[in-house]
Amino acid sequence: MAGRDAAGVALICASGRLAGVRVGAFSGMGPPYRQSPMCQNLLAQEQRLWYIQVSHYARLNTSDVPMPIALIVHGGAGIIRDELIAGHLAGCNTALAAGWAVLEQGGSALDACEAAVRVLEDDPVFNAGTGSVLNAVGTIELDAAIMDGSTLAYGAVGAVQRVRNPITLARHILNGPATMLVSSGAEAFATTQGMPLCANADLIVERARARWERWRAKHALREVGTVTEEASLPEPTTSAAHDTVGAVALDRSGNLAAANSTGGTPFKLPGRVGDTPLIGCGLYADNTVGACAATGWGEAIIRMALARRAVEFMERGVSPHMAARRAVALLMRRVTKGNGGCILLNTQGQVGLAWNTARMAYAYRVEGSEAVAGV
Ligand code: ASP
Repeated sequence: MAGRDAAGVALICASGRLAGVRVGAFSGMGPPYRQSPMCQNLLAQEQRLWYIQVSHYARLNTSDVPMPIALIVHGGAGIIRDELIAGHLAGCNTALAAGWAVLEQGGSALDACEAAVRVLEDDPVFNAGTGSVLNAVGTIELDAAIMDGSTLAYGAVGAVQRVRNPITLARHILNGPATMLVSSGAEAFATTQGMPLCANADLIVERARARWERWRAKHALREVGTVTEEASLPEPTTSAAHDTVGAVALDRSGNLAAANSTGGTPFKLPGRVGDTPLIGCGLYADNTVGACAATGWGEAIIRMALARRAVEFMERGVSPHMAARRAVALLMRRVTKGNGGCILLNTQGQVGLAWNTARMAYAYRVEGSEAVAGV
């Protein structure tokens, strides 16, 4: 029996045992299914999945009981040179504190993710907003997205210029009518939402400019818009510094959210959009299971639909810790140059994080425990 059907039968078994829960699509199947040894066996295998579902229903029905809050942020998977570690840790801690303050005051997971990511976008240490890497033609194009685990609403922006905080633009887009806007259309929409546009040069920091100058000196790029063979995407390596940012939050109402923001890969082709703003690839959030934000080599992460994959592991009862490890292991095993990492929370606020690059900057906090940060 296929896994999907097997899970269905297991749910029928469970519905026979747990009062008040309906699995409508399978309710026509008779008692023999529930009593068979195969069914009992499947029930055991899928028990953990079932408990997650039940705990979700319980959560929906007990809105007066405050839930534990949790928040995790990342500052990108790649190499972080020793002398840059302090800046990355400080940035992640500040972002965590900003998001945590929102959650502590009863704010939503969406607001907490946006607040945390805005801090990281404004910090020139990271490759998001101000301080982003330059593309092949020496300018900045930004990607960002945010997802609401309660409604599965999702807002994303790709290859946008002149926006200081693309995560806030993504948040506006989340309210509809589109799910993703790119380039000049995204910029025009920003102005309709009262977001001022800046000069793109305002987002470029000296470090990024110098890095691009060194790269350009090695690669004979002719003109803007004329992509030569030399100006193809650079090789992904575990030593590349990316410093993309992201956050995953669980609020008091049991709502999960995930958010990501990036300048993309250094020297990328103009118009290139990576995994960061793509639902299921760079991020995913579902209140019934958990949420994930990914970072790393976008072309590989997209092929794996990594964030959705990590959430699926949790859906099958795997802990966030193991789900993160399995997702990253799969990325490495299944896709050539599958370098990256991810951060996860489940419905209980348990944390998972893993990476296969040299380092990944992160900070997290779960209610009742101290904040933790590392690289
Ligand atoms: N995933 C990003 C991209 O490929 C880069 C990163 O995470 O550092 O655009």
